[in-house]
Amino acid sequence: MKRKIVVIGGGIVGCLTTMALHKNGAQVTLIERAELGAESSWAGGGVLLPLLPWDYTEPVNQLAIRGAAHYPALSEELTAATGINPEYTVSGLRILAPFNKNAAQQWCAQHKIEFALENDTLWLPHVAQVRNPRLMQALKCWLEMNQIPVIKAEISPITPNQNRVSQLRTSQGATLSCEDVVVTAGAWSQTILGDYSLDIALKPMRGQMLLYQQPVGLLREILYCDDFYLIPRRDGHILAGSTVEDMGFDKTTTKTAAEALHQKASKLLPALEECSAIQHWSGLRPGSPDNIPVIQRHPQLENVWLNTGHFRYGVTMAPAAAEDLVQLLLEKI
Ligand SMILES: Cc1cc2nc3c(=O)[nH]c(=O)nc-3n(C[C@H](O)[C@H](O)[C@H](O)COP(=O)(O)OP(=O)(O)OC[C@H]3O[C@@H](n4cnc5c(N)ncnc54)[C@H](O)[C@@H]3O)c2cc1C
Repeated sequence: MKRKIVVIGGGIVGCLTTMALHKNGAQVTLIERAELGAESSWAGGGVLLPLLPWDYTEPVNQLAIRGAAHYPALSEELTAATGINPEYTVSGLRILAPFNKNAAQQWCAQHKIEFALENDTLWLPHVAQVRNPRLMQALKCWLEMNQIPVIKAEISPITPNQNRVSQLRTSQGATLSCEDVVVTAGAWSQTILGDYSLDIALKPMRGQMLLYQQPVGLLREILYCDDFYLIPRRDGHILAGSTVEDMGFDKTTTKTAAEALHQKASKLLPALEECSAIQHWSGLRPGSPDNIPVIQRHPQLENVWLNTGHFRYGVTMAPAAAEDLVQLLLEKI
C-alpha cells in the first residue's frame, strides 16, 4: 500500500517535497490556498548561495551547498518534461568591499569553492541562479503532468486527536482525511500549527525588490555590496534587492524602500540612475533564528512533519531539504 501523505503549502519547499515524495512511491496530495508558487518563492532572487556564506553556520551552508548542487539536473529535468526553462544560469557572484577577506578565503578553501580576489572584490565564478517564476511554473506543470492532485483550499489550524492529526479542515468547512501531514507553508506554518505551534521563533520577514529592464548583457554577473545585490536575468531584466523587514504579515511595498533600493542600485550600476524600475514587489520570507530551517517530525504529533523556516535561502536549500524530509518520513535513515 502506498503511504498517503498530504503536503500543505505549494511554494518551492512544498512543490519539491511533493515531487520527492511522489518519486519515492508515496501517494501525495498538495494543498495550496491560492496559486502554486505565488508567495515568497515567486518573489525571491533565486541566487543559489548564501550571501557572505562565512557569516552563517555550517548547517545553513551545508544545506545550501547540497541544495544548489541539485539545480543543474533539476532544471534540465523540468525543461525536458515541461518545456518551461527555469533558466538555471551560472552567472558568478562578485562581492564588493567591505567584506572580511580572511574569513572569505578561509571559507572558500574549506568548502572547495573556487574564488579569486580581484582588486578589492571577491569573485565566485561558479555561483548560479534560477528564475523563480519560471521555476515555479515548471514545477506546477510537472506536478500536473504526473497527475499529482493539487487541491486549492486554505487549511485551518490543526486540531489533533491525542497525538495525531487524522483530519484537516479547510476555511470553507470541508474536511480531508490524512495519514501523514507535511507542513510546508512558509511564513504561515506557525498559523497552521495553531496551538501546536513550535517553541521556535518562526516569523514572516518582508523583502522588497525592484525590477529594471535593460539591454541584454549590460550586466552579466551577480553583484553584491553591503547587504544589497543586483541579479541579471538572461533577457536583460535586473533585480535589485532586497529589504529584510520585520512587519508581520504586511506585504505592502513602500516608497522609502523603493527609493533606498534605487539609490543602492544606481551606486552599484550607474547606468540604472536615470532608469525607472518597471516593477516593485515584496514577499514574506519564512524567518527562522540564524536562518536554520525546521526539517523534522513534530515533537508532539507523530504524523505531522515540518519542512519550513528556510528564511533567506529557501530556493537554494529546497531540493536538499525535500530530500532530508523524505528520508525522515519514509524512514530511510
Ligand atoms: C525578496 C526576497 C529575496 C529572496 N532571495 C532569495 C535568493 O536569492 N535565494 C534563495 O535561495 N532564497 C531567496 N529568498 C527566500 C526564498 O524565497 C524563501 O526562503 C522560499 O521561497 C520559502 O519557500 P516556502 O515554500 O517555504 O514558502 P512560500 O513560497 O511562501 O510558500 C508557502 C505557501 O504556503 C501557502 N499557504 C500558506 N498558508 C496556507 C494554508 N493555510 N493552507 C494552504 N496553503 C497555505 C502559501 O499560499 C504559499 O504558496 C528570497 C525571498 C524574498 C522575499
